[in-house]
Amino acid sequence: MRLAIDIGGTWLRYETVGEEELCGKIPSQENDLVDFLETTLREHPEIDAVAISFAGQVHDGTILSAPNLRVREPDLRDYIESRYPVRLLLENDLNCAALAEALYWDSSYLCALYSGSGLGAGLVEEGRLIHGFRSLAGEIGHLPYREAPFACGCGKRNCLELYASGSGMAKWMHHFGCDGSVDLAAMRDSDDPHCRQIAEGYLDALLHAAADLVTLCNPRHLILGGGVIAHNPWILAPLKERLSDYALAASLEGLTIELSRLEEASLEGAKLLLDRMDTSPFA
Ligand SMILES: [Zn+2]
Repeated sequence: MRLAIDIGGTWLRYETVGEEELCGKIPSQENDLVDFLETTLREHPEIDAVAISFAGQVHDGTILSAPNLRVREPDLRDYIESRYPVRLLLENDLNCAALAEALYWDSSYLCALYSGSGLGAGLVEEGRLIHGFRSLAGEIGHLPYREAPFACGCGKRNCLELYASGSGMAKWMHHFGCDGSVDLAAMRDSDDPHCRQIAEGYLDALLHAAADLVTLCNPRHLILGGGVIAHNPWILAPLKERLSDYALAASLEGLTIELSRLEEASLEGAKLLLDRMDTSPFA
């Protein structure tokens, strides 16, 4: 039996692949990942492989950083593999999502641009993920954009993520003293000029992120996903309309831009990693 896990800032989702079906979700802030793994592996010794989609920067089985999760064992793969007879794969959640999107859209050249709590991207070329030297490729949320009066989780004050993400919009709302929840459509239609400014800033920063990806990576498919975009599908129309003002014209030829249609792309991607485990240790 094999176990796929997707751990984000809110939920830890899991699903097994094999004869016995296990699946569910538990709050990730109240459940330590290592405790969950150890309990599950003790209860189900038939599990021989685990793939984890992780909301943070990971490299070679090690967690480099995780702004929204408590990390007890950064060397997660070594910790688990030295104690249990399993193989463990650890992958960034947006990379997992990009793998699942590439399969769904049957695409060899795909960029997944997700805006939820953060802003990130996963890149697939000829069916393989682009990882970079230390698996940090695709960190689009931390490209420089405009100076903000507060810092990003990475420490800089000018990241795209400070504008085109749920956490960024929340920081702006706090800065301007705006009331209410972080609701992009409500801010767009608000009477409060600060709220409208935040919504306009969101769209402009998202356009920059999309254009940077398209111009740098020349994908066949640009797939938009994540919580903020899932709740605001209207964003697709102005993004398509205005992208030519931001991206290289030639890289827009033949480009398909769509909203994600997958409910749990990262978990689906972790299951794909399990499928690939036999053929290659790398996705
Ligand atoms: Zn940043």
